[in-house]
Amino acid sequence: MSYIPVIGLEIHAELLTQSKIFCSCSAEFGGEQNSRCCPGCSSMPGTLPVLNKTAVKYAIKAGLAMNCEINKFSVFDRKNYFYPDLPKAYQVSQLEFPLCINGYVPIHVDGKEKKIRLNRIHLEEDAGKLIHDDFNAVSLVDLNRGGIPLIEIVTEPDINSAEEAKAFVEQVSLLLQYTGVCSCKMEQGALRCDVNISLMKPEDTEFGTRVEIKNLNSLKSIGRAIEYEIKRQSRMLDNGERIIQETRRFNDNRGETKSMRNKEDAHDYRYFPDPDIPQVNLTDEDLEAIRAELPEMPDKRLERYINEYGLSETDAQIIVNQKLISDFYDETVKNYNNPISVSNFITVELLRRVNLGEVSMDNLPFSAKEFASLIEMADTDKVSKNDAKKILRLMVETGKSPEDIAKENGFLIVNDISKADEIISTVLAENAAVVEQYKNGETKVFGFLMGQCTKKLKGVCTPQVIKETLEAKLK
Ligand code: ADP
Ligand code: MG
Ligand code: ZN
Repeated sequence: MSYIPVIGLEIHAELLTQSKIFCSCSAEFGGEQNSRCCPGCSSMPGTLPVLNKTAVKYAIKAGLAMNCEINKFSVFDRKNYFYPDLPKAYQVSQLEFPLCINGYVPIHVDGKEKKIRLNRIHLEEDAGKLIHDDFNAVSLVDLNRGGIPLIEIVTEPDINSAEEAKAFVEQVSLLLQYTGVCSCKMEQGALRCDVNISLMKPEDTEFGTRVEIKNLNSLKSIGRAIEYEIKRQSRMLDNGERIIQETRRFNDNRGETKSMRNKEDAHDYRYFPDPDIPQVNLTDEDLEAIRAELPEMPDKRLERYINEYGLSETDAQIIVNQKLISDFYDETVKNYNNPISVSNFITVELLRRVNLGEVSMDNLPFSAKEFASLIEMADTDKVSKNDAKKILRLMVETGKSPEDIAKENGFLIVNDISKADEIISTVLAENAAVVEQYKNGETKVFGFLMGQCTKKLKGVCTPQVIKETLEAKLK
């Protein structure tokens, strides 16, 4: 029997603030274990939290980017539970009055747009990390991550397939990157996803019982966990078994989910407002100031590239899909106003080098200005198209300017017309017999003559000039 999957996601995103949410410790990823914590974020009694304003601002930016309403009045609550990576035995989070509510994120799957509604985005603190040392049979705790600001983005159960779930996470990641509030490096745990999933029959009027799969940290495992869970629940329902509400863990190696524990309900956490943290009151001016800091978002850029610059939708999408590429593209066009040519050179030549792992966008050894001047040199026949590719490779390797590389390697075409004329005349004189053939109607020998001239005219003039001069002389 076939069922409709009903999926809601909870995405945790670490915010890129310099310091943690309630103390001044560094919020940077990594560091020697327990070197980035103080009495505050290691939960010593008697310490008091001071709310990081930037964390609040970043959460609001994320909310605005995802079309949320921003609550001007917002409260932090204690979510009580014990786990060794959380020595306070409560996590500061938001229950009744989160910073952002409602909102939606449009996704595109199979050429169709669908709006995934958001229930809320709230601000909370991350927990520490447990390191399980199986060899010595101990678990150790690293509190560097404890107190890093997190937002939790909670969707309505609007997602109906693994493809939609992945498209949603990709789109959220793109929006967070454009707003600059999260690195979105899933491999560093900066973006983590919980999947809630249940099945229903087409004729059902109520959702089925869901399970929650915790802490998925790649698009691939999100997709695989959903596919697995659809099969598992279908089989159970087909056999007349009941699904129990529980939390499951996905094992990447086995490609299976396994039960961790029965799922708690909100009331199990005994939430209550944190008496140590003042309520947040925002004014319209605060919100306007934050809105004004938002950059041009991906949908606007896409529109600009297609409508103003005339790029194809495919190329525009490739560029917009990574903020670093899009920023570099805009900067290059500022230096050389030929948007289509720049787009072609980026999507074909530069991305080839990036995909081969020779260079990465966050660490280019040349400026957009130098890159622009390379494309302009190729477009204006100062170097051949083929040599332009070689120059790019050398720019990646050496960081030298395209002009220097062209000079050093003899790639520059000087377009010395009189010299070209002279050399072509010599070539024709040396090949008098072939010229005779041509004049007798064997026009296919033109290619041979063209080849002979090109060999001798490297760097002197463009193929176009050679062709035109040859044609004129052979008349
Ligand atoms: P909790 O407080 O237990 O985490 P929420 O009501 O906040 O539960 O929902 C958490 C997530 O589960 C949301 O993304 C929501 O869309 C999703 N969800 C709720 N009910 C279902 C269901 N029956 N099937 C699939 N997902 C669901
Ligand atoms: Mg929840
Ligand atoms: Zn601290």
